[in-house]
Amino acid sequence: MRHSTLSEHKFKKGVFITPFNSMDNIYELPDDYSWTYGRMPEYLWIALILKRQGREKGLEILQYIISEVHLLTPEIETLRLSDILRLDESIQARLYDYIVKAVSAETLAPLTIVLTHSNAPTFSRYFCCPELTIEERRNILVDAMNTVIDQHSNEATDVRYIVIYFHLMIGKLKVQPQQLDIYKTYYLSKHDDEVMRVARPSVRSTEMLLLNDKKPDTPFLENFWRVVSEMSDCELYATRFPEEKNNIGSYISSVYEALNYLKDVFVTTEPLNAKIKILLGIGTYSYKRFHELYSHNMFNSIAGRSCVRVMVEDYIMMKYLLIKESERPDIWSEYERYGLGQYKLVLSRSREKGIDNNAHFDDSYVELLVNEFLEEEYINMDTKYFEKDNIRIKAKLVGEDELYGLYYDYDSAFEHGLWGAIRESSMIKCTNPAHLFHCVPDINDDIVMKSVLPDCIKVMNKTIKLLDKEIGIPEEIYNEVMRYELKPSGETN
Ligand SMILES: [Zn+2]
Repeated sequence: MRHSTLSEHKFKKGVFITPFNSMDNIYELPDDYSWTYGRMPEYLWIALILKRQGREKGLEILQYIISEVHLLTPEIETLRLSDILRLDESIQARLYDYIVKAVSAETLAPLTIVLTHSNAPTFSRYFCCPELTIEERRNILVDAMNTVIDQHSNEATDVRYIVIYFHLMIGKLKVQPQQLDIYKTYYLSKHDDEVMRVARPSVRSTEMLLLNDKKPDTPFLENFWRVVSEMSDCELYATRFPEEKNNIGSYISSVYEALNYLKDVFVTTEPLNAKIKILLGIGTYSYKRFHELYSHNMFNSIAGRSCVRVMVEDYIMMKYLLIKESERPDIWSEYERYGLGQYKLVLSRSREKGIDNNAHFDDSYVELLVNEFLEEEYINMDTKYFEKDNIRIKAKLVGEDELYGLYYDYDSAFEHGLWGAIRESSMIKCTNPAHLFHCVPDINDDIVMKSVLPDCIKVMNKTIKLLDKEIGIPEEIYNEVMRYELKPSGETN
């Protein structure tokens, strides 16, 4: 399936709405109507027959079986298992007898873990096979579910074909003659035949049309999912990207050399230059964040993403301040006061509400910082973004939309604990279809996320390049930083 592009989405009140959801009368199917949760369990008996008999023979036998269903009980309107189980016991007995003779009791025996003597006595009497252990029955059932749980799979389409075949047979479904021709050739054709490229989507969309015919049997579905989910364990699949093995000691040293040189320039020649102080302060903050990851080998961690985000934001802010400087030379001290104003705001709150002595916010130290150069009474507290422009607007202004769009937004999800980030970093996929592919908390830290090192280097280099342009770094030190080439993650240096 082709994914729609961002420009194909409609932007309404701050939300990108997919082309699909922008159409009128489109709504998501409630669970009971969905294929995976609501319909697949009802037709699992068909899937079991197809799986055991093979496609060709299975489709043929099923045509006999569903004709028998119609003959025995002309009033039945669906092939749903819950409807079959509601038939009169004697009719059920005759139908099951027919199925046992056609495909063996063992074929549907796996369903007896759900359909037991207490809730489906006739069914369990006909299909009970004590020679199959509960575990074997469960495994066959889960295996069958695995093949049809994707509603677009060939196997699921075969099941859905039998469903519409039955509706055509009993006259409940009317289709165009050319569609009927396609359905006639469906079971004689193989899945790689050309005709199936048209036939499969047609089968699937027609089966969807039957949804309105009958209400789902919620208790049947609840019981099915309760039993199958309880009877099998999680099959966990943790995503593990290669752990970062690059030894970047030489790169870190060359960045250090560059910053050390700039620090000396600042201290010896321009100690009172606000612009150099701010630019070097921001650059050093990025370096320290990067260095923290390096020291603790955290390039595959959640903290790594937080680091990339702040390095991107720092770099955008440096460029933004440089652009604004031409209109407002005082922008550097404004930036400083804005930051201290944020600190003062927290300080004021702590004075009003009080703060735990053990809290990592130390009010007396922060008070010192806020009052360092300017009495706090002269520092405003601005609760808006610096210069009112949020980071998205700033990124656009400085020509770094890509950094913002691809990195900042993604890494912010980790900073804000949004679900995408939680799912990626802290939830493991369970591949058991009986558990509806739910996710399980990764409390044992099995997930290894992709390394952020190449991106850290990319942004660090941009930062160094900017500092070189504004302040100047000797060529040999600068080239040493830029020359560093990373090996693909996983390879050792
Ligand atoms: Zn599970």
